[in-house]
Parts: sequence; structure tokens; C-alpha cells
Amino acid sequence: MRVAVPKETAPGERRVALVPETVSKLRDAGFEMRVERGAGAAAGFSDADYESAGAELSDTTSLVVAAGALACVAKPSAELLAAVPSGTVLIGFLEPLTDPEGIAQLSERGVIAFAMESIPRITRAQSMDALSSQATVAGYKAVVLAADRVPRLFPMLMTAAGTIAPVRALVIGAGVAGLQAIATARRLGAVVSAFDVRPAVAEQVQSLGAAFLDLGVRAEETAGGYASELTPEQQAQQQTALEERIPDFDVVITTAAVPGRPAPRLIPTSAVERMRPGSVIVDLAAETGGNCELTVPGEVVEHGGVTVIGTRNLPSTMAYHASQLYSRNVGAVLLHLAPEGELTLDWDDEITSGACVTGPEATA
Ligand code: NAD
Repeated sequence: MRVAVPKETAPGERRVALVPETVSKLRDAGFEMRVERGAGAAAGFSDADYESAGAELSDTTSLVVAAGALACVAKPSAELLAAVPSGTVLIGFLEPLTDPEGIAQLSERGVIAFAMESIPRITRAQSMDALSSQATVAGYKAVVLAADRVPRLFPMLMTAAGTIAPVRALVIGAGVAGLQAIATARRLGAVVSAFDVRPAVAEQVQSLGAAFLDLGVRAEETAGGYASELTPEQQAQQQTALEERIPDFDVVITTAAVPGRPAPRLIPTSAVERMRPGSVIVDLAAETGGNCELTVPGEVVEHGGVTVIGTRNLPSTMAYHASQLYSRNVGAVLLHLAPEGELTLDWDDEITSGACVTGPEATA
């Protein structure tokens, strides 16, 4: 099977779906690899790197000719999609829960689409879990952004000029991104607290050296390990409890999300107004509306001396490593769907049927 890798076209997207390391592995496994010229440039991978890895370079128009699969980060552009032959396998972040129109377009084109968001979170599919790999990058970068913005040093320092207190950081939502944010903030020397509505994560939070903040709100955990949505009463209770505790923190990283739903609104303006000037909120849920009432997706705003960072797509700002991890996930999916380079779709397989969003056996 021939796999095509386009240059991403979404605004601000710097990642590439397959890096030379994976291209080389897939070639060894029996795939033919074709990469659009410049596809990896924004992530730090040159055309020469791809050629050395055994890829054929192509321009946009010939990229998908006789390709069996197209490996993307985001959905392909309308122009590229129009050229994709019916029956082509498409792999990427396709937003199956939030972009039904986009999925319908893929279906009309006759594409067999596999959404990276829909890979089941089972042990066997861990190497394909791109939500986790990219959330890890985002959690790290959120802390780096906060450290850059906050007018304080993260660690406690004892100097000849006296002692300075460490930053106090709060991480809300201790899933994959939140746990990485905790670990990164701890490495920089902050004193970290964290909260999640899934009480099961308290132990993980503590094992990273952070304190679990009990706000008295608990949600059910779904079979996939996700939190269920809070009731309006629980949400109000959480906002009130946070409003009381939030003035204790210099840095707040919010990562709370419920799949397919708008981000839960956790931090009202009144809570931000109780924070000390110079404090920073990094809202990783900006993409789905934000955990903070003041978040403007894609922007950095200031309110009463508090900075609220709503920068979108943090993994793209760390494009080299984000692409490397994503590429390994996509490579694992390709090897699953086409062992030894030959497409063998087993619709009884939980990963294949679970991730398929358009095509013969789509479940979404
Ligand atoms: P996510 O991005 O959907 O959510 C982030 C966090 O927000 C979650 O921990 C969630 O509990 C929390 N949250 C939701 N509403 C909240 C609220 N109102 N207040 C505070 N926190 C709130 O989730 P994720 O990080 O992608 O994954 C969550 C969990 O899924 C993981 O911790 C793990 O248990 C499970 N998981 C399993 C596998 C696997 O088995 N292969 C892989 C990855 C994740």
C-alpha cells in the first residue's frame, strides 16, 4: 500500500503526520511512502531527511494519485479531499464528535476514515493513543507558558539577598495533560495542588508530589476512563469552592474536558478578580470554549492584572516532538490496519471498528 503524507494546511498547524523515522520503519514493513514537498519543514524535518528515509517526494496535485492511504494531522483541505480517490484510507484528527459536517463530506467522498480521537483507550491500542501523546505535549507547554508570563521564579530560592517563596500552582483536571503539567511544574520547583472530579486520580496526583485539593465535587467515571458531565448544581458548587481557594495560587492550569461536550465552565470572572495581580491562568480547554469565563480562544487577555492564556493548539508550538510522537501513533495505526503493507480491515477488531468514522463499518 502506498501512504501519502500532505503538508498540513490548517492555519497555525506546524506538525506533520509522519516523520522520517516512521517513514523509514513503514518502508521496511512493506509500505511505499510518498511525502508532499515541504510537509515536515515547519516541524524541523527537511525534504532531504524524507528522501534519505526512502520517501518519494511529490507536489500537491500528484500526492494522492494511486495512494491507498492518506496520513494527516488535521482533516485534509477541500482541494486535497477533492482529489482523494474513493476507497482511500484516511487517518487523522477528524473531530468525529464535534464536526458532523466534516465527517459527512468524507463520507460523500467515499473515504474510509479513521479518527485518531476514536481509537479505543484500551491497553492494546496504547501505542496509537494520539490524544494522550499530544495532551502530554500540551500539559508541558502550558507550564512553560505560565513560567514565562508570571513575574515570579518557580522554585524557592535561598540567596544572599534572602529567601523567596516558590510559586504555588493549581492544576484543574488531572488527566493526561494535567498530570504532565503537575510533573513539569514540580520539576521547575513549584508547590503544586491539583483537582479532578474523578476521585480515582488523587493517588496519581500525590505520586507526582502534588497535593489533591478536595472541592467536594465528584463525577462518575465512564467505561473509557473519562469523567461524565457535572449537573448544573455540581458545577455551581465547584465554582463556589474554587472561588474560595483560587486566591492562594499564582498559576492555574486548567485542562478539564468531557469528550464531545463544551468545556466545563469552572472559573467565573469573580474568581479571577480574587487572584493577585501578576497571576496567570493557562486554559488548555480554550479549544472547546474554555474552563475560564474570561478565556478568549486563541488569545492572551488581561483582567485586573491577571493574565488568561487561551492559546490554541499548543502541541503545534512544539512541532518537532509533537510530530515525532504523533507519527509513532499513526505508524502503529497503519501497521494495525495493513500488517506488512497490505490493507486487511478486520471489522470484528475493536480498534479497527472503533476508530472508523466513515466507510463500510463506521460506528460514529
Ligand atoms: P480529558 O482530556 O477528556 O479530560 C481531562 C480531565 O478533566 C479528566 O481527568 C477529567 O476527569 C477532568 N474533568 C472533567 N470535568 C471536570 C471538572 N468539572 N472539574 C475538574 N476536572 C474535570 O481526559 P484525558 O486526559 O484524555 O483522559 C482521562 C483519563 O482517561 C485518563 O486519566 C485515564 O484514566 C484514561 N485514559 C486511559 C488510557 C488507556 O487505558 N489507554 C489512555 C489515556 C487515558
